[in-house]
Amino acid sequence: MSGQDVAIVGAGIVGATLAAALAPHARVLLLEAEDQPGYHSTGRSAAFWSETYGGPAIQPLTSASAAAFATGGWLEPLGSLHIGRAEDEGRIDAFIAAFAGTAIPLRRVDPAALVPGLRPDWVHGVLEPSCAYIDVGGMHGAALATAKRNGAALATGARLEAAERREGRWRITTTAGEFVADVLVDAAGAWADAVAVLAGVRPLGIQPYRRTMAQLRTERAAPEGMAHVADIAGRFYFKPEAGGKLWLSPHDETPVDPHDVAPEELDVAIAIDRFEGVVDWRVTAVERRWAGLRSFAPDRLPVYGFDPQVPGFFWAAGQGGFGIQTAPAAAELAAALLLGRGEMPAGVDPARYSPTRFGVSRS
Ligand SMILES: Cc1cc2nc3c(=O)[nH]c(=O)nc-3n(C[C@H](O)[C@H](O)[C@H](O)COP(=O)(O)OP(=O)(O)OC[C@H]3O[C@@H](n4cnc5c(N)ncnc54)[C@H](O)[C@@H]3O)c2cc1C
Repeated sequence: MSGQDVAIVGAGIVGATLAAALAPHARVLLLEAEDQPGYHSTGRSAAFWSETYGGPAIQPLTSASAAAFATGGWLEPLGSLHIGRAEDEGRIDAFIAAFAGTAIPLRRVDPAALVPGLRPDWVHGVLEPSCAYIDVGGMHGAALATAKRNGAALATGARLEAAERREGRWRITTTAGEFVADVLVDAAGAWADAVAVLAGVRPLGIQPYRRTMAQLRTERAAPEGMAHVADIAGRFYFKPEAGGKLWLSPHDETPVDPHDVAPEELDVAIAIDRFEGVVDWRVTAVERRWAGLRSFAPDRLPVYGFDPQVPGFFWAAGQGGFGIQTAPAAAELAAALLLGRGEMPAGVDPARYSPTRFGVSRS
């Protein structure tokens, strides 16, 4: 049995980046149930960084992450074109207004000039040029390497089965042995509530939702440099990938219990049907399909902070569809709270993401 300052449950992007931020200052143990860190949501994302994605309450975390992404070299230019039909004019106006106070360079464009074969009912376009591809694997690997270089231990195949707080420390039982730590961090993604329950902490209502992705071949290849295309009404998005491929999502959000999720054929069919209503490109093959879980707190904001009722239990959960693009600033925020330091990422208000917003006595 070994003693640690902090044990982090979950070695996806959230646990890994937090371990990297903490390791120079604390003895860190990263516990991962799977043999492969990144097997769940982190390895199944659409891999883009967009300052508007998730809305104005998420934007500060995304924008504050930009510098770390640039330093790591994990972004490649992509751009995002938000499109709408005549009836979406109100949504387009509201979208631009929502980000008016930020430095995000949004501008109205003619969408047909940017997407060849766009069907004529898509009349509105807003370009977000700063949207970028993320090298998720590179970023996740670098975070794990930084954590290890600074002394953090990673235990894979180590599923947390029980955690008990005794004499101010956590006694942690996992499938890879027993550990002791002062603080237990819940970075278990879709299993965040389940891990809380194992530690005797009241769940917050973190709900996983299935999201489907398909990799397509189309008769007409996406032109070089085409932006990510997203429906302003939130019914699809697609983006070009290397080798003339296209990644498409129907933007589905089906509530499910946490599990190793697989795509449903119907969701792939819905995605293709919507896609064919946007452009006149014929789909010639579905090369790959997958699904992942996006997990949200009831108010759809992430949760970073100590549980108000159980000492030594820290939440890093509810990252929804923006856990990768916000990871650097979120890790900085969580590390500052865990280490009791005052410096927060620029523009980030920790109170907004605190678990205390759900009240002290939930039932
Ligand atoms: C289809 C799809 C597209 C997405 N696109 C984007 C995007 O473009 N940009 C973006 O920023 N975000 C995107 N996201 C969201 C992003 O993937 C998630 O927000 C992020 O990966 C969450 O990271 P995580 O570390 O919390 O979760 P995970 O990667 O799921 O990690 C949690 C880990 O906890 C482990 N665990 C669970 N229970 C236990 C236990 N009892 N003991 C030990 N370990 C345990 C799991 O094995 C898992 O590895 C997308 C998500 C999906 C599904």
